[in-house]
Amino acid sequence: MATYVITGAASGIGAASRSKLESAGHTVIGVDLGQTDIVADLSTAGGRSAAAAAIDEASGGVVDGLVCCAGLGSLSRVTGGKLVAVNFFGTVDLVTALKPALERARSASVVVISSSSTTTQPGIPEKLVTACLDHDESEAVRIGDEVTPIPAYPASKLALAWWIRREAVRTEWIGKGIRLNAIAPGMIDTPMTNGGDLDPELAKSLDFYPIPLGRRGRPDEIAAVVEFLLGPGSTLFCGSVVFADGGTDAQLRQQDWPAEWTPTADELTRHFQAKT
Ligand code: NAD
Repeated sequence: MATYVITGAASGIGAASRSKLESAGHTVIGVDLGQTDIVADLSTAGGRSAAAAAIDEASGGVVDGLVCCAGLGSLSRVTGGKLVAVNFFGTVDLVTALKPALERARSASVVVISSSSTTTQPGIPEKLVTACLDHDESEAVRIGDEVTPIPAYPASKLALAWWIRREAVRTEWIGKGIRLNAIAPGMIDTPMTNGGDLDPELAKSLDFYPIPLGRRGRPDEIAAVVEFLLGPGSTLFCGSVVFADGGTDAQLRQQDWPAEWTPTADELTRHFQAKT
């Protein structure tokens, strides 16, 4: 049986993942703002390092899998900067801090929760995505505050998906037996989308989100994907972004791939050098 860490374990997708993994006999260490094993605020650098230290102690320094669910939604009453601090930096900094513990497990899996808003919401501020990928937190928070939470949300989730794809293939991760993957859920029925802290006017817009399946997803349906990506059936998944959205992405982007691969001479050289 494995030891898994779940952030955002007190609610929604994180709580559903916890209960699915515990029912299968695994040990789960939860991290959240309250009501779980490790209480930590992942919006701050201090909170992230305290969380990493507490996880190290609770796990004995060996973590088989990390599931990053902690996040703030675009309609929650927070600033865009705070949202970016939790959604992007609260995730990638914890993944990075736990790398030694994941490496000790010899074959570990990291699952982060991105979002189908990355492909369905127009007007994502590119400069915010860039600041995240440059790991410039103060600039990302500044831009997040400037653009407000609604565009900051898909930007934080796009940066997360791209960070996963960039890092997953590097020898520092896959070469050490650590698989990094992301799930991009569509609209899921959780406190994030149906909670009382949503702006009531904006919350009405959620009813217009196109879902070919005809209903919102359930947290346990995302937990099933989490369990798969942690488990032995998914060993070929490395840098994948798995859309679990009842058909929204397929409906809106039916033929949006393949993207043409047109490498520059420099990129080609780097690619072949990496192979030799
Ligand atoms: P939720 O609100 O039920 O759970 C989010 C959890 O994150 C909460 O327990 C909250 O306390 C925790 N959290 C928030 N800020 C934190 C902080 N600073 N430090 C530590 N923990 C913090 O929401 P959910 O729907 O279960 O969302 C889980 C993840 O899935 C989020 O990253 C969200 O963006 C993503 N997601 C959700 C949906 C959806 O429709 N619900 C869709 C796509 C992606």
